[in-house]
Amino acid sequence: MALLTITDFVVGYRTVEALHGVALEVEAGTVAGVLGANGAGKTSLLMGIMGATPRRSGSIRFDGVELAQAPTGRIVEAGIALCMQNRRLFPSMSIEDNLLLGANSAGNRVARERLDAAYARTPWFGQRRGEATGRLSGGQQQLVAIARALMSDPRLLMLDEPSSGLSPVAVQEVRVLLENVAAQGLTVLLVEQNTHLVQHLCSSVSVLAEGRVVGHGTVKGLVAQDLLSDAYLGG
Ligand code: ATP
Repeated sequence: MALLTITDFVVGYRTVEALHGVALEVEAGTVAGVLGANGAGKTSLLMGIMGATPRRSGSIRFDGVELAQAPTGRIVEAGIALCMQNRRLFPSMSIEDNLLLGANSAGNRVARERLDAAYARTPWFGQRRGEATGRLSGGQQQLVAIARALMSDPRLLMLDEPSSGLSPVAVQEVRVLLENVAAQGLTVLLVEQNTHLVQHLCSSVSVLAEGRVVGHGTVKGLVAQDLLSDAYLGG
C-alpha cells in the first residue's frame, strides 16, 4: 500500500518552474529513491512536500489524507520529516540541543524518550551529548542531522542528498543508520545525486531530470536502459 502518493506536482519560484507535474509513490515500509543530477528538482520536490517552497498545483496524499494545501507544521504533525541538504545543524549548539530541536511540539517526557532512543541507536551521541556539533566531522554531523529528523517520530523520513560531501566510510555509517531504521519498519524516501547509497538501500527508484520523472525501476534496471546516463549526461 502506498503511504505517499504525489500526482501532477508543480513547484515554482517566481518565473522559474522547477517541477512540471511530478508523480511519485512510496510504498509503506520500503525505502524508495529519487536520483537526479544538479538542478533536476530534487530539493524542490522535498521542500515542496514540506510546504517550505511554493507549491503551484498537484496532490500530496499521505496515508489517504490530502496535504497539498497543508502548512509545514501540519505536514510534520501528519508524520513526515525531512533531513535537509547540507545538514543545517546549529554548529555552536550541542548534539543534545540540536536533537531536541527536532522533537517539534513533543512534551519533555516524550522528547526525553526519543533522545534515549537516539542514544541507544548511536551510542557516541550520548557520550558526547554536550559537544558543539560544529566540532564534529561532516559524517558525524550527518548522523546527528538524521537523528534530529527522527526526533519528530515520523512515519516517513525524507533525506536530501545525505551522502553529499562525505567520505566512503562516512557514507557507510549513514547507510547502516538508514538500514537500521528501515529494518524497524520506517518508510524512507532517499533523494540523491550519487547512485551508490540508493543502489544499496532502495527497492524502487525514480529518475528526475529537468523537473520531470523520466524513469522508474531498480538502479540495475535503469542502468540497463541507459536511463541514468541519459538523465545525468543529457542523453
Ligand atoms: P542540487 O543537486 O544542485 O541540489 P536539485 O536537483 O536539488 O539540485 P533544485 O535545487 O530543486 O534542484 O532546483 C531545481 C530548479 O529550480 C533549478 O533550475 C534551480 O535553479 C531552480 N531553483 C531552485 N531554487 C530556486 C529559487 N529559490 N529561486 C529560483 N529558482 C530556484
